[in-house]
Amino acid sequence: MNVRERKMKARTIILAFVLLALSSLILPALDEDKAPLNIISVEKNSSLEKKLRSMDLDLLFEWEGRIFILARDPDLLALDKLNFPYTYENHRFPPLHQDRFYAQTNLNGAYHSYKELETDLQALERFYPQLARIFTIGTTLENRKIYALKISANVSQDENEPEVLFLGCHHAREWISVEVPFLLAKHLLENYAFNADVRRIVNQSEIWIVPMLNPDGLEYSIHYYRYWRKNRRLNADGSYGVDINRNYGYAWGYDDNGSSPEPAADVYRGSAPFSEPETRAIRDFVQQKHFRAMITYHSYSQVILYPWGYTKTPPPNEPLLNGIAASMSQLMNPVNGRTYGYGESGASLYLTNGDATDWIFSASGMPAYTVELPPVDQLQGGFFNTETDIGPIFNENLPAALYLIDWSIQNFRRALRRPQEREAKAPINKMARSSKKR
Ligand SMILES: [Zn+2]
Repeated sequence: MNVRERKMKARTIILAFVLLALSSLILPALDEDKAPLNIISVEKNSSLEKKLRSMDLDLLFEWEGRIFILARDPDLLALDKLNFPYTYENHRFPPLHQDRFYAQTNLNGAYHSYKELETDLQALERFYPQLARIFTIGTTLENRKIYALKISANVSQDENEPEVLFLGCHHAREWISVEVPFLLAKHLLENYAFNADVRRIVNQSEIWIVPMLNPDGLEYSIHYYRYWRKNRRLNADGSYGVDINRNYGYAWGYDDNGSSPEPAADVYRGSAPFSEPETRAIRDFVQQKHFRAMITYHSYSQVILYPWGYTKTPPPNEPLLNGIAASMSQLMNPVNGRTYGYGESGASLYLTNGDATDWIFSASGMPAYTVELPPVDQLQGGFFNTETDIGPIFNENLPAALYLIDWSIQNFRRALRRPQEREAKAPINKMARSSKKR
């Protein structure tokens, strides 16, 4: 999108709001503002998709090879004019409410944009200068900063304490994955003075939170295409985006099931391992630090996954990874009654190669988890959590995150007490080199 298109889009949004406000004040009887909303679907194929993106439509999501769109009468007329084939899908969804439509489309609502996150992180640093400090661990292709917030007592010092990492927003459309790690930071800082448990873990560890690894993709998802997943790399064939969570250097491109060599694909793994600034930022950061445990948040599926993603073969020392996942799931359930399944990633969900969890686990042996946040499936909303989901989803993830930090502290202390005893680590199985070339 160029600047002119951006401005036009902004003007359209503003105009829509002005019209809505005017119509409700002055013209309550007119049917215009009650123009019915429809959900339609069109076949997903690249030539149609290109045409579609040039129109100013609300693309909702993709499902079973079709793109779902929120459309008003003028949109349908425009599609008819172009002889664009579409299918009505209203019957699949609960009735649409006009106010909900205006509250949640084209805008990110209660979810953070890049700028909003930057402002909020700066506020946390300003309010809690002894406990919070912002670091920039990388810069994206569109020149946005990848922020890491460190939380610890004596935050300006690098103390001999276990470090724990929380990541959010590898994938642009998974907005809830920004909110959970951000709210974890906020919770730790706001409760430090009042809650002895929080104070203890903040005193005894160094917690690193990277809530928005993919700000370029996220901004694109907010302003242009809600369903966008990848970063905004311009690929050699003219398509956009590399799937950051297929670009890490362990088992990268292991097969074409767990990632794709096709640049236009949603799971395109990039031209080489760590070809992207986002994955390089995490690689360099993790190599400088000495992390003991990690969670990377995604959505959706409501599961806790541990390595491996690239194969269904279980990792060595799986009982440790499985036991921690089971404890986290047990702690999450009573909060809202939701059950998070757990298991090895490749065997439980689907195969992924070149993802963050496999690489971090391979590099250090530390317990590393992908938490796929609710809902459980597409029919419950898929990637599109509502604003009111943020609180409950964070609340149920909080005890699991605190548990993992505490586990890291206890494991670290055990190792300090008995230096001859190795820390609980999952030894790495060596992948056959030849298989990497596939
Ligand atoms: Zn994801």
